[in-house]
Amino acid sequence: MPSPSTGTPWVVLKFGGTSVSQRHRWDTIGRLARKRADDGGGRALVVVSALSGVTNELTAIADGADDGAARVDALVARHRDFVQALDLDPDAVLGERLTALQALLADARAAARMLDWQAEVLAQGELLSSTLGAAYLRSQGLDVGWADARDWLDAIELPNQSEWGRRLSVSCRREADDAWRARFAAQPARLLITQGFIARHGDGGTAVLGRGGSDTSAALFGGLLRARGVEIWTDVPGMFTANPREVPDARLLARLDYAEAQEIATTGAKVLHPRSLGPCRVTGVPMAILDTERPDLPGTRIDGDASEVPGVKAISRRNGIVLVSMETVGMWQSVGFMADIFERFRRHGLSVDLIGSAETNVTVSLDPSENLVSTDVLAKLSEDLSQICRVKVIAPCAAITLVGRGMRSLLHKLSEVWATFGQERVHLISQSSNDLNLTFVIDEADADGLLPELHAQLIESGAMPVADATVFGPSWNEIQFGKPERAPAWWQGDDARERLLTLAQPGTPAYVYHLPTVRARAQALKAVAAVDRRFYAIKANAHPAILRTLEAEGFGLECVSQGEIEHVFDTLPGLAPARVLFTPSFAPHTEYDAAFARGVTVTLDNVEALRRWPETFRGRDLWLRVDLGRGDGHHAKVVTGGAASKFGLPLEAINAFAREVRALGGRITGIHAHLGSGIDHPKHWRGVYAELAAIADGVGTVDTIDLGGGLTIPYKPEDLPFDLEAWAQGLAEIKAAWPRYRLAIEPGRFLVAESGALLVRVTQVVDKLGTRRVGLDGGMNALMRPAMYDAWHGVHNLSRWGDGNEVACDVVGPICESSDVLGLKRKLPAATAPDDVMLVADAGAYGYVMANHYNLRGLPREDVLE
Ligand SMILES: *Cc1c(COP(=O)(O)O)cnc(C)c1O
Repeated sequence: MPSPSTGTPWVVLKFGGTSVSQRHRWDTIGRLARKRADDGGGRALVVVSALSGVTNELTAIADGADDGAARVDALVARHRDFVQALDLDPDAVLGERLTALQALLADARAAARMLDWQAEVLAQGELLSSTLGAAYLRSQGLDVGWADARDWLDAIELPNQSEWGRRLSVSCRREADDAWRARFAAQPARLLITQGFIARHGDGGTAVLGRGGSDTSAALFGGLLRARGVEIWTDVPGMFTANPREVPDARLLARLDYAEAQEIATTGAKVLHPRSLGPCRVTGVPMAILDTERPDLPGTRIDGDASEVPGVKAISRRNGIVLVSMETVGMWQSVGFMADIFERFRRHGLSVDLIGSAETNVTVSLDPSENLVSTDVLAKLSEDLSQICRVKVIAPCAAITLVGRGMRSLLHKLSEVWATFGQERVHLISQSSNDLNLTFVIDEADADGLLPELHAQLIESGAMPVADATVFGPSWNEIQFGKPERAPAWWQGDDARERLLTLAQPGTPAYVYHLPTVRARAQALKAVAAVDRRFYAIKANAHPAILRTLEAEGFGLECVSQGEIEHVFDTLPGLAPARVLFTPSFAPHTEYDAAFARGVTVTLDNVEALRRWPETFRGRDLWLRVDLGRGDGHHAKVVTGGAASKFGLPLEAINAFAREVRALGGRITGIHAHLGSGIDHPKHWRGVYAELAAIADGVGTVDTIDLGGGLTIPYKPEDLPFDLEAWAQGLAEIKAAWPRYRLAIEPGRFLVAESGALLVRVTQVVDKLGTRRVGLDGGMNALMRPAMYDAWHGVHNLSRWGDGNEVACDVVGPICESSDVLGLKRKLPAATAPDDVMLVADAGAYGYVMANHYNLRGLPREDVLE
C-alpha cells in the first residue's frame, strides 16, 4: 500500500437519486466503479443518495405529517418493488431495514418529534438505497462491500449552532490519521458502497448533513482518504457558464479552480452544493462533475493547479432577492452605527449578503436561499430599524453575478455589459475584494431575457475567453443536438484551394469573392415569399461583380453616400432609379440634391434637414427612418437606438416631421427601421412591425415598410446558421396581419460575408514568453472587423491544409498598433512558417470596404471566382 503522503489508491464516486433509482443506472455505477478502481490500480468508494423522491417523503414523516403511516407503507412498497425489479428477494435484501423503518413510527420519541429521531428517519433513505445497491452489484459478480457511513464520519459542533443544526445540518471532522485510513482500508472488498448525507452524532446517535449532503459526504471521504479524486456523477454534463435552461448557448466549464467553482456554486449553479467543495479544497483532492447518462463527456474538473485564465467564467441569476435600503442623516459618522444596524438583522435571524454604502445610505441584500424572508419577518425588521433610520424595502429583485478570476483587469471589456445594465434600474453593485465576482441587483421583472443577451456580450467582448478550450467546453446546444450541421465552405474543396493558392501568387493581401455563394444566398432570400422588395446594402461590399450579380438576381441597391450612388450607376448604367435607395446619415445636403436629381428613393430621419433646406425636399416623396429605441419594456434592450444612437427619428417627432413634409407638398411613402443584428425571433419582428405599421397607418400615404438588414451569418464554428425558416415564418405572419404594405428588406452581410476570403501570407513566426505569434502581411489595415468589433474570423493555413492544427497561436498583422490582432489562441499547424498562404474566412462583408492605408501600407487586391 502506498503511504498516505504519496496518495492512497481510493477514488470516490457519488451518485444521486436519479442515478440509483433505475436498474440500468446501477449497471453503469458498477461498470464505472470497477473501471475507476482498475485505472488507478486501486479501490473505489461509491457514495449514494436515497432513491429519488424518498428524502422528501422522509422529511414529511419526520415533520409529523398526519398520513405518516401511509407514507411509510408507500416507501416500503416502493423499495420492495425496486428490489424485485433487480431480480432479488426483497425480504432477504431489505427485510430488516424495512422493519426498522416501520418501527420508527412507533418509537417513543416520535410523538415529540425529537431531533435525534428525525435524523434517524431521514437517514433511512440512504441506508436502503446503499443496501439494495450492494446486493445488486454482488449479484452481478462484483466484489462489493457495504460500509455504514456513521462509522467513519463524525459530526462536530460549531459555535453559535442551534440544536437543530447540530443534529440535522451538521458539519463533520475533516482530518483523519493514518490509523483511521488503515482501518478503512482493512475492509475487505475492492469496491465499497456507503451512504451520503449521514454521519455519527457525538452522542452515538445519527446525524444528517442537510442540503447538498451527499456531495459533501463524498468530498469528506475524499479528503479523509486523501483520495486520487472525487467524482460527482449527476444527470447534467457539468457546470456551465450560465443556466442552460435560460441560455442554451452556455458553455460547459471544463476546468475550474476551487475558488471559482465555489463562487459559481454559491451564486446560482445547482449542480454542486457550495458546502461540498471545502473538504476537497483543504486537502487538495481534485473533483469532477460528470454525467451518468453520458460518461464520455469531459465534465467539469475542479482542482487547485488549474493554470490561471483570467476572465468571466459564468453568469448567474438569483431571484427573490430583498433589498433593505436605510437612509440616515447625522448618524452616519457616529461610532457603532453599523454594529447597531447589523445587530437588528441578527435579532431577526437574517444574514446579510451584499452591502452598498454612501454618505447617508446603507443598502443590504437578503438572499432567500439563506434566509427566511417572509413579509412578517420583514415587517418586524423594518419596524425595528425605523427607530434609527428611514427604511425602504425593495423586492422582488434579481441578483445577476459575473464570476471569474481576475475580473478587475477586464472591466474595460465589459462596456457592453455596463451599457445593458444602464438601461435597467440598478439598485446595487457589488464587487468582491477577492476579485472573483461582480454583482448587479435589479428589479426581478427587468431580469427576464437579460441573461442570454449578457452572455452573448461577454463572449463578444472577449471578457469571457471562450476560445480557451482548457476552460470552456462545448455549448449546451451542441451537447444536446450535436455540432450544428454546416455545409463545407466553398473554399474547402481541393480545386478551390489550388485556385486560391494560385490567386495568392501575384501578391497578398488579396480578397477573393466566390460569386456562386453570393447567388445562393440571394436565391435563399428570394424564396421568402412575404418579402416584396429586396435591396442589397452595398456598403458591405461594393465590388462591381457583386453588384452585377445581385442586380441580376433581382435585388435593388441601397446606398448610404453620394459616392455609393455614383458607383452604382457607373457599374450598372441602365439601372432604373426606382431600384436604388439612399439612406445616408448626417450627409451634406448637396448629396440629397444629387440623389433627387438621379431619381432614387431618399430616406430621411430628422426634421431639421426639412426646415433648413426646404427647396431640396419640396414636393418630394420621402421614406422616413424611425428609431424605435423607446420600444416596449422587455424588448427595449434588444432594439438598437434610443437617445444614444445617431440614427432615426424618435417617435415623438413623427407628427412634426409629417407636418413639415406636408407643408412642403411632399409625401411620406415608406417607413424604414434598420433594427440591428441577429434578430431571429419571429415574435420580436412581429412586435416591431406592429409599431411600424401603426406609424404607417397614422401617416396615411405610406406604401412600403422597410425592415432594414441585420441578418447574421455563423462566423464561429459553434454558431448556428441564421434561422431563415423561422425568419420567413415570422415575416409571413406579419404580412398576413398587415397585407396592405409592401415589405422591403435591405441586408448586406448575409448576402456577401461567406462569399469572401482574405488571402494573406505569413511574414514571421515568433515565440515570446510562452505565446507563439504568427504574423501576416495584412492585419487591421486589410480587415478591420477584429480590431474594431472584436469580431471572430476563422484563420486557416492553406499551404499546409492536410496538417493537424495542433498549436495555439495568436494571429497578428503588420500594423504598429496593439489591436492589430486577427485572432487569439487559434489552432494552426505546428510547421506554420513564413511565406505560407493563410485564409481568413467569411471576410466578404465589411472587409475590403473598410481597408485603409494606415502605416502607408497598400490596399488589398480583389479577385472574383465564378
Ligand atoms: C448597414 C445597413 C444595412 C445592412 O446591414 P447588414 O447588417 O449588413 O445586413 C441595411 N440598411 C442600412 C440603412 C444600413 O445602414
